[in-house]
Amino acid sequence: MSFSQNDIKFFIGMIPPQSVEDGTVHLIPSFGNIGVIETNEGLVVFDIALRQFARRNFKTLRKITKKPIKYLIFSHGHFDHCYGFEPFISEIKEKGWEMPEIIAHENVYKRFKKYQMLDDYHRWLNAQQFSSVMGRSNDVIEPDKILKPTVMLDGKEPYLFDFGDIEFEVNHDIGETDDSSWLWVPEKELICSGDLMISSYPNVGNPYKVQRYPKRWAIAMENMMEKEAKYIIPGHGKMIEGKENVREVLEITAEAMHFVHDEVVKRLNEGKWFEQIFHEMLEIYPDKFKNHEYLRPLYGCYRFAIHAVYRLYHGWYDTGNPTDLFPARSHEIAQEFLKISKPEEYFNHAKNLLKQQKFQLALHMLDVIIKAEKNVPEELLLDALKIKQEILEQKVEREPSFIVRNILNNGAKRIKSSIKSQKK
Ligand SMILES: [Zn+2]
Repeated sequence: MSFSQNDIKFFIGMIPPQSVEDGTVHLIPSFGNIGVIETNEGLVVFDIALRQFARRNFKTLRKITKKPIKYLIFSHGHFDHCYGFEPFISEIKEKGWEMPEIIAHENVYKRFKKYQMLDDYHRWLNAQQFSSVMGRSNDVIEPDKILKPTVMLDGKEPYLFDFGDIEFEVNHDIGETDDSSWLWVPEKELICSGDLMISSYPNVGNPYKVQRYPKRWAIAMENMMEKEAKYIIPGHGKMIEGKENVREVLEITAEAMHFVHDEVVKRLNEGKWFEQIFHEMLEIYPDKFKNHEYLRPLYGCYRFAIHAVYRLYHGWYDTGNPTDLFPARSHEIAQEFLKISKPEEYFNHAKNLLKQQKFQLALHMLDVIIKAEKNVPEELLLDALKIKQEILEQKVEREPSFIVRNILNNGAKRIKSSIKSQKK
């Protein structure tokens, strides 16, 4: 399965805005999307996207409508949904309008505080996860520049409000995060989902990020299904239109989340360790999920989701092998291997594996040489690094997931620069 640059374009919002319901409901595509509902008294806006997209989004909105923003709802506290507010707030101040009500789950504000505490770490981490779209910039968020919610919800009951003769219902469910809200607008038959729907396999089990919740995600999808909506404005990607499509997308996503959750749980109960569970899960992954347009591993992917379930219920000791409890340093292990067979033998063996397209096994063999670098002749080490770089690049070509591609590419680039510095 492959995916195109076009998919990424949709995902990061490089497409024109969409309007439905006689031009009263708008999707402003961005990273992430902004949902706008027009009433005769002003606008209800769902999410405000990434800081870097703020100017563009402001211009787009003001081409569509001049009405003031009266309510801003945050789907969750991630930086691509809550930090792009500046031009919108400047306008409010310039025009002397009243500040909008900012509605969010109470955990959103806790998340803002966490981002302030972990600022340096998150800059480093996001620079890796988003390297292909961020380039070298590492100032994606300025965690001190936040809009503090004025209405903080505990999520126990739906939060209802009427505005401009339209009813709005803010619901809480857990999925990607524990701070998520989704909006239901009955009159427009519209759901604004935030990242509970991202037109990709859900971002559950992201290798860089904290725990996420597959079972609760399935329940969120089922709660949305009860509304029988005609539109979903997703957190990322284009609008989902038509009752049939909406139902199908929610249903298949719910099913996929139940599947990965229940199958991993079953194997935990059978006393299996992570490696066995992971490989068995790959073998049983049903085609109906594999081939579904909305479950493509564009951003999140099934392989990550297996980790998510395991991690939700399991500690960090995941092999069942006491050797792995407090392992020696990996470069010391590699140096011991090279005491019993020469680095050339590992190198030649890696090349053979590569010929057979056994990329992953070839990487493990090359790592023995690369990790034991001090005990390896310089030329051979450089050759091993070059081949590892090539393998990583070839894996990127075959890889649909944006996050996996970035991890592999970052690795290839690091090797490239270490080869350069060694040649000097
Ligand atoms: Zn997002």
